[in-house]
Amino acid sequence: MTNREHEIYDVVGIGFGPSNLSLSIALEERAFDEPERALSNHFFERQPRFGWHRDMLLPSATMQISFLKDLVTFRNPTSSFSFISFLHAVGRLPQFVNNQDFFPTRREFHQYLEWAQARVAARVSYGSAVTSLRLASTGAASDRLQLAVADVTGQGCRRVEARNVVISTGLVPKMLDGVVSDERVWHSSEFLQKFRGMDPRELRRVAVVGAGQSAAEITRFLYDELPQAEVCAIIPSYGYSIADATPFANQIFDPRAVDHYYFGSEQTREAFWRYHRNTNYAVVDDEVIRDLYRRAYDDEVRGTDRLRFLNLTRVDGVKRAGAETRVHLQGGPGGEQAEIDVDALVCATGYDSMEPTELLRDLDEHCLRDEAGRLRMERDYRVVTTPDVPCGIYLQGGTEHTHGLSSSLLSNIAVRSGEIVDSIVARGAGGDYQRSLYAGAAGLR
Ligand SMILES: Cc1cc2nc3c(=O)[nH]c(=O)nc-3n(C[C@H](O)[C@H](O)[C@H](O)COP(=O)(O)OP(=O)(O)OC[C@H]3O[C@@H](n4cnc5c(N)ncnc54)[C@H](O)[C@@H]3O)c2cc1C
Repeated sequence: MTNREHEIYDVVGIGFGPSNLSLSIALEERAFDEPERALSNHFFERQPRFGWHRDMLLPSATMQISFLKDLVTFRNPTSSFSFISFLHAVGRLPQFVNNQDFFPTRREFHQYLEWAQARVAARVSYGSAVTSLRLASTGAASDRLQLAVADVTGQGCRRVEARNVVISTGLVPKMLDGVVSDERVWHSSEFLQKFRGMDPRELRRVAVVGAGQSAAEITRFLYDELPQAEVCAIIPSYGYSIADATPFANQIFDPRAVDHYYFGSEQTREAFWRYHRNTNYAVVDDEVIRDLYRRAYDDEVRGTDRLRFLNLTRVDGVKRAGAETRVHLQGGPGGEQAEIDVDALVCATGYDSMEPTELLRDLDEHCLRDEAGRLRMERDYRVVTTPDVPCGIYLQGGTEHTHGLSSSLLSNIAVRSGEIVDSIVARGAGGDYQRSLYAGAAGLR
């Protein structure tokens, strides 16, 4: 099915983070179970090697989901690609169990992801950015899409064709309005690389903007790593708010919650966000909050003022000149304006959802949108297209409006990948996975 001269695949994945890694494993396991229905596939990743938020692998940062929500277990609990199989393979299973913790460090989870990707790496091209997608031929309806894939080292461009593409290009870092990142102003997504590029002695005063998990983790890290520095946490709220990880609230990340969201009324979907946004957005794990408070309190006991919380405060502007960075602040309990000079400013200001519009620009007229301009989605994560496009364009991420809160998270990737593979297989066989699986459910959007 695959020809090196003229590459044609049943499935091409764009981006190779955990979502498409999970998909590649689902494809591999399907091929093992049903070799006669194996789907040829290949994945393109622009990073030179596998990496999952590498610049946020802070030493003590832990996962925010159970290790059992790994790449496979919720889809196939007997898979050899599970986190438990990884622990067994590296000889750490008893020690992990003795540790009695559902939440490994992000560093350990990264080791697991690297171990898993090494087993499917033959079907991944790293250093390869997909730059555009279009129908493989104009005129008569084509059953294939053509992708342009650029070598990120500038060594040319490759064209491949796919019957189905699965876009999973990840969250998009969001900076403060009007502020651009440079060697002294960093977004949290580039934190470790920028931090390591500095001489720590030059960092006498640093500030972190934001009130979410990354902001709190970076504040704690800087306080510990820079024992001489003053660390200012600029937070818009009065204090960090806790992430609700309690069992009932956590059910919104269960696989079946996707159906409740997708088939729910507008009111239902709104309730998900209104009541449960605090499970993930602009909130911080209990343990990190307590850790930071303990440090601030110890400072008070010692009579030092090294960790400062500028609460109810927003950044109004940033002025840069050489090594100097002046941050204009607005707010504080008195609502006054102020300025601070810092040696580095970290904007832990979050991310926007995955946005495939740029990749889909040449298919714009074929991809249908709702009144708000968002892509219309089938339940099986397929973009709703005009009838003249028989190819499948699937999204892993960027579907918060149709599939709910877990869209950009790891919680559901095992099940979602399985659903996408089932859908591709059913469509290839002339069936409709969507209708067979969800027959009887409310109308599809
Ligand atoms: C610091 C941090 C910690 C997190 N921790 C958790 C957690 O504990 N639990 C949880 O559920 N969620 C967590 N998240 C949410 C996060 O979205 C998911 O963990 C996860 O990254 C989603 O995987 P993904 O494969 O969809 O996206 P990503 O991991 O972002 O992978 C997307 C990949 O696509 C590549 N790419 C982008 N554009 C192109 C292109 N044009 N061509 C080729 N490749 C491209 C990127 O280089 C990237 O490698 C965290 C997020 C952050 C920022």
